Amino acid sequence: MTAKKGFTTQSIHTSLPEKDAYNSLHMPVYDGVAYEFDSSEDIEDAFLGKKIAHAYSRTSNPTVEYFELKLKNITQSNGVVALSSGMCAISNTMLALVQRGENIVSSNHLFGHTYALLKNTIQSWGIEVRFVDMGNEEEVKNAIDENTRMLFFETITNPQLEIVDIEKISAIAHERDVVVVADTTVTPPYVFTSSDLGVDVEVMSTTKFISGGAAAVGGAVVDNGTFDWEKVPALNKWVESFQKNALIARIRKEIFRHLGGCMTAHTAHFLNMGLDILALRVDRCVQNCLDLGEFFTGEKQIVSVNYPGLASHPGHELSKKQFSNKPGAVMTIDLGSKEECYRFMDQLQIVRRATNLNDNKSLIIHPWSTIYSEFSDDEKIEMGIRDTMMRLSVGIEDVNDLKADFSQALANLG
Ligand SMILES: *Cc1c(COP(=O)(O)O)cnc(C)c1O
Repeated sequence: MTAKKGFTTQSIHTSLPEKDAYNSLHMPVYDGVAYEFDSSEDIEDAFLGKKIAHAYSRTSNPTVEYFELKLKNITQSNGVVALSSGMCAISNTMLALVQRGENIVSSNHLFGHTYALLKNTIQSWGIEVRFVDMGNEEEVKNAIDENTRMLFFETITNPQLEIVDIEKISAIAHERDVVVVADTTVTPPYVFTSSDLGVDVEVMSTTKFISGGAAAVGGAVVDNGTFDWEKVPALNKWVESFQKNALIARIRKEIFRHLGGCMTAHTAHFLNMGLDILALRVDRCVQNCLDLGEFFTGEKQIVSVNYPGLASHPGHELSKKQFSNKPGAVMTIDLGSKEECYRFMDQLQIVRRATNLNDNKSLIIHPWSTIYSEFSDDEKIEMGIRDTMMRLSVGIEDVNDLKADFSQALANLG
């Protein structure tokens, strides 16, 4: 029994790090803050890092550790840190790898708050960000210089739903010793093996697919163990003591510890359950999304349908190769005007008007007037947002009910 097991088997049967006192089959929720030691020497050893033990739940917690272990097993990665949110995972990774005076190359087609982090917050700390068209290899190449430490992109951009050739742009970054960091939120490890395509570090919002029904806000950093951390000046001191674990060690023992972005035990509990049934949910969502994509394509009031699972999408072939032909469950649809979008959304009875992605419930939103409302019209257009576009995150409902809901909303558009 040495063959690599499937995603779900692996997730469900990850052993607890220690035998439970009551032989619980399920990892308990350790809600406490502090952990006692048998002797003063033991507590000294723990603080010196000579003995690995939980001491205080901001720095580590058994239920959170079990989630990290599950994700590490599933991704076959070098190390995982769980944090309080997806934004916390992104910002901590950037702070761990990039110093003042260095730069990050990214795209302006990003989740809105990530774009704002890069555009405003990170730059105010003296880290430059160069925005390029990730689909243009020359532009990526030209933006990289000796101070570039990170290439950052989303596997499928939200809400533009663009897909780049990850293997190609990773190779460009690696030629110049630049770390490749991908936000894999919409393509969880069940459909995407990031290390196969040259991604060194995954950052993800576990709030979405992994939490299993929008149960808890959380995030994770996954280090694939593929980058030589000696090449990153910000990790020099950490490589000496922690070698291949330098990134995880710096996040855990410095950035994350000092900024305090810890995941709670309750959140980890939801994520542990969410991972066990992730594959089932993703399969259902993707199938529903495909069915709805075809349904909308046949509706004459719908001006355009955008989903990488459809042959009409320019990234369809890449999505088959990169994401096991399961390119998430988010699509966008356009109507003739913003007013029509509002009328359409207001008629819906099953699909909910809400932000968030990959809930078990189907959710719809008009990104122009909500998620991107802090940006000027010109900026929105540059980011690929249209005022005629709605973003639909498809859930696990019975697809005929979703179709019926959309049909009645279209019929009532007038
Ligand atoms: C939601 C989201 C984030 C932010 O995650 P939070 O858990 O809300 O902090 C980052 N990237 C992508 C692609 C997202 O969808």
